Amino acid sequence: MFLKQLDLVGFKSFAERVTVDFVTGVTAVVGPNGSGKSNITDAIRWVLGEQSAKSLRGVKMGDIIFAGSDSRKALNFAEVTLTLDNNDQFLPVDYNEVSVTRRVYRSGDSEYLINKQQCRLKDIVDLFMDSGLGREAFSIISQGRVEEILNSKPEERRTIFEEAAGVLKYKTRKKKAEVK
Ligand code: ATP
Ligand code: MG
Repeated sequence: MFLKQLDLVGFKSFAERVTVDFVTGVTAVVGPNGSGKSNITDAIRWVLGEQSAKSLRGVKMGDIIFAGSDSRKALNFAEVTLTLDNNDQFLPVDYNEVSVTRRVYRSGDSEYLINKQQCRLKDIVDLFMDSGLGREAFSIISQGRVEEILNSKPEERRTIFEEAAGVLKYKTRKKKAEVK
């Protein structure tokens, strides 16, 4: 599985529709301060189900909608679509390509879609559970988090690596089994 494409409309600084194509291997996004690099990772976390405006560096969810600039009016909605190549069937669905869309309006209404079919937020969260890609997963490490990891105690740091390596869920299951 790999991230193929990201489409953004009205998400934070991306007023116009922007399509980012990714290829296999490493992609580096470069640009001056404030040009929107972190907004791209915020978009990925948001479409994967992030519910905390704070962790998207805002105060309320509406803050992710393009707020307008000197030359452009504010928009009324934000939409992000993430397209994954699933030829290896890494995600447990019968599709070789999986797209996930999230849309939010200023009114607060939200819409979620998997392969253009309307679904619930829970369906998106479930789809990525155990894939290492979910909203809580350490596949995305934000700027502030790097310092947090460097400053954390060795035991805490180990937990982060265990989760990233996919070991944590087995440890949690083992613990649960032992209690019973
Ligand atoms: P750095 O190199 O400093 O980390 P960056 O490239 O990661 O910068 P971002 O944090 O992604 O930059 O982008 C910040 C920019 O996004 C700011 O200019 C901010 O005004 C803009 N921005 C954030 N939310 C919105 C919004 N709702 N509407 C319009 N612009 C927004
Ligand atoms: Mg940044």
